[in-house]
Amino acid sequence: MDVVLTGTGSPLPDPNRAGPSTLVRAGKTCILIDAGRGVVMRMAGAGLFPSFLAAVLVTHLHSDHICALNDVITTHWVMSQGSATLTVYGPAGIAQFVERQMAALEADIGYRIEHHDQLTEGPKVDVIEIEAGDSFQVNDITVSTAPTQHSPARPTIGFRLEHEGSVAAIVGDTLPCDGVDTLASNADVYVQTVIRRDLVELVPIEMLQDILDYHSGVIEAAQTGARVGVKQIVFTHMVPAPSPDQYSEWVARAAEHFDGEIVLGEDLTTITI
Ligand SMILES: [Zn+2]
Ligand SMILES: [Zn+2]
Repeated sequence: MDVVLTGTGSPLPDPNRAGPSTLVRAGKTCILIDAGRGVVMRMAGAGLFPSFLAAVLVTHLHSDHICALNDVITTHWVMSQGSATLTVYGPAGIAQFVERQMAALEADIGYRIEHHDQLTEGPKVDVIEIEAGDSFQVNDITVSTAPTQHSPARPTIGFRLEHEGSVAAIVGDTLPCDGVDTLASNADVYVQTVIRRDLVELVPIEMLQDILDYHSGVIEAAQTGARVGVKQIVFTHMVPAPSPDQYSEWVARAAEHFDGEIVLGEDLTTITI
């Protein structure tokens, strides 16, 4: 199983980091988790196009995690020449979000159908709203879910993907909680969106201070990893985004609480488990 970071950014624009998104590839099955800004470009960087996706999983409806879903839908539609269905799993509200995206794309859909004989209908998107705790199969990948804690964003759902004994936990934005512990239990890789509490606390901007109460810090993620027997932790969606010369400091703080491997993600970082 490969876990490819198709976006390690946050809502704060960064020229080197696409918005939050992670791709899991096992055998011939590719699953995208979240679709932040620039995800289709990063997928191309990984040698993949939306038409290769077996499913998109959405953790929650914050815009940084879904703002490029319209690009995934349109590119999937055009590149599969209208023949394939894109399956999207996500929490309550994702069906309405996709429906509204399709409404926003109405003019484009009309132009393309008029212009290309091959396209006779709009994008086929099968949206499946799930509840935390549900599990399902995407080809030969087993996906299990649990509730995460990112209020007032709710519901929020984390994912655990298993394939031939390999386990990846991709939990999205969340505080440490029982759901994350369940998802990451003995995982080969645990991908966690993180902030540096000590650095954020120094910035006297109220809206930045607000993020402290619904994200995991680096130390908390390391403690989660140690508590539930994770082999490797991957940090993504870092706030504030570190420059390469700061990576060792981030890793050192986490290493005080976790003995396994710690990876500070960059776009297209690939972990093979
Ligand atoms: Zn969020
Ligand atoms: Zn986020």
